[in-house]
Amino acid sequence: MTAPPHILLSVRDLSVSFTTKRGPVRAVDSLSFDVHRGRTLGIVGESGSGKSVTSMAVLGLHTGAEITGSIRLDGQELVGRREREWSRLRGRRVAMIFQDPLSSLHPYYTVGEQIAEHHRVHFRSRRSVARRRAVEMLAEVGIPEPERRAGEYPHQFSGGMRQRVMIAMALACEPELLIADEPTTALDVTVQAQILELIARLQEERGLAVVMITHDLGVVARVAHDVLVMYGGRAAELAPVDALFASPAHPYTRGLLDSLPRLDDADDAPLRVIPGSPPSLLAPAPGCAFAPRCARAAGASPSERLRCATERPLLTGPAGHPAACHFPADEGVTS
Ligand code: ADP
Ligand code: MG
Repeated sequence: MTAPPHILLSVRDLSVSFTTKRGPVRAVDSLSFDVHRGRTLGIVGESGSGKSVTSMAVLGLHTGAEITGSIRLDGQELVGRREREWSRLRGRRVAMIFQDPLSSLHPYYTVGEQIAEHHRVHFRSRRSVARRRAVEMLAEVGIPEPERRAGEYPHQFSGGMRQRVMIAMALACEPELLIADEPTTALDVTVQAQILELIARLQEERGLAVVMITHDLGVVARVAHDVLVMYGGRAAELAPVDALFASPAHPYTRGLLDSLPRLDDADDAPLRVIPGSPPSLLAPAPGCAFAPRCARAAGASPSERLRCATERPLLTGPAGHPAACHFPADEGVTS
């Protein structure tokens, strides 16, 4: 079965396990999702839910982890590829930006040199061509005086401008897929909004497929077309963004939505959080990983509760909006 042409990245039954001193950790468990050309998939979940491990797997950046399942880019299987093949892909067809741009930028080279070098490695372009491309890219991501700023070092840029530099570098080789892992988490709210706007604009202009990883549903609301909610390394819910906000099926998603600040909140209103802590990945519960924290399970009958505690829910339900819950929201979810 070949993927329809609009699906660029197709992940099926992806599991990623690490061997640790305390035992095996299954950070990602049987995860499946698609990323479409020209669309943004938001992956949202609390810290530790497996978002970064998933994105690293898509880039082939795990060494020593056991990876099973399938990751197809444009129909080509990536799981099991050799490092040399991955490195040809990374930065070229798939690019990534992180929360902390400084960790990906070398302090001793100017940003222009670094973007140009990245271009030269992948396109074997002449020095002058790569250099021009670097300045063009800096201009495209909204850095004023790009010619001059190309000659500056990373520490001379503010946090927001540095993230723009990273985006310029990521897009210099015209990738088809951009993975952004919490790219705005370290930025203040105004700058965060500007960077999200920039990513959304570039995504649309270039017809990019984007994976936006975040712990913040507010970020998802701004840029995502589709949303994957992750909990404990598994998919909790998958939906178009409007459907997710209008009729969340999974109690965990409802909890995340309830914890979003609202416009009518008083300034001193307490921050709402989902009570309890994330599940253990070392000794996963046999049933639903969210059951111990689940408001729906808490109000359920004894037999229902037993089911949540012992039987792992599969991601099922309406084709466009499945959820991994034995008792998904009854109203609003059209089948
Ligand atoms: P997040 O959703 O916050 O990005 P991560 O994907 O970084 O979460 O991590 C998911 C889980 O996998 C965490 O419990 C983390 O401790 C664990 N993990 C990540 N990398 C490793 C590793 N190299 N070895 C062992 N455990 C890891
Ligand atoms: Mg992370």
